[in-house]
Amino acid sequence: MTKKYILLLVSYAVVASCLAQSSLDSILPVRGLCIAAPSPDGIDPFIDFINKDLVPRKINTLVLRVDFRYQYKSHPELVADNALSTSDIKKLVRTCQAGGIQLIPQVNLLGHQSWSTNVGKLLVEYPQFNETPYVPLDKELTWPNEWGLYCLSYCPLHPDVHKIVFEVVDEIMDAFEAKAFHAGMDEVFYLGDDKCPRCQGRDKAELFAGELTKIRNHLALNGRELWIWGDRLIDGKTTGIGLWEASYNNTHRAIDMIPKDVVINDWHYERPDPTAIYFA
Ligand SMILES: [Zn+2]
Repeated sequence: MTKKYILLLVSYAVVASCLAQSSLDSILPVRGLCIAAPSPDGIDPFIDFINKDLVPRKINTLVLRVDFRYQYKSHPELVADNALSTSDIKKLVRTCQAGGIQLIPQVNLLGHQSWSTNVGKLLVEYPQFNETPYVPLDKELTWPNEWGLYCLSYCPLHPDVHKIVFEVVDEIMDAFEAKAFHAGMDEVFYLGDDKCPRCQGRDKAELFAGELTKIRNHLALNGRELWIWGDRLIDGKTTGIGLWEASYNNTHRAIDMIPKDVVINDWHYERPDPTAIYFA
């Protein structure tokens, strides 16, 4: 009698938990966190963090900002300091699978190829991809500065950039066994530069949409989804949302030029504008 009573209680608890989960999934299907990928010596504490903090809170999506901190075999020249090994990544993959969390790697594409004059691996190794090679990089520049330098971009029309970038994307996606890829594409201030021999005079919204569509189409070949940050698709001037959270260089019109299956991550620093509704 006691045993049956306990069994019933357990069964009830399982049913109640399944009902709570399905109702949570129907109300809020994506419960995500985006955070920098841990360093190799931080893998074990990070796995504890997933198991003890994320799983109990029903987080089901984890975007990890990896960039070039993975030991890429296709492009060893691009591997940054403190890069994760395949075995490090697999520990994260198995932990997330066990916890019901979709793991999504992020490598910043187009923009964020430097922080000020601290240049990322892509443009260090391939300076010919730099959209604004005339900007001096020999000393740190504080914002604002005469060059308008916040972060460097690669030129989306350079004929050699996508072969390299897509090899990196494919390799990180295989390592993560991921179905979705996060390309960042936020805060792109340098785009369609007047001095770029390929981009000068072109419509910045078309350049942004073109690059986004190219990345989306490449991922779609393997049944994979593109995720991006939403700020370049919002008109900063008209809305007053500002230079970081929205676009001041007319990329916002790209919203009507991009495929509808791209997942837009809405974000804000200052004001809770209902831009998710705008995107929907
Ligand atoms: Zn260009």
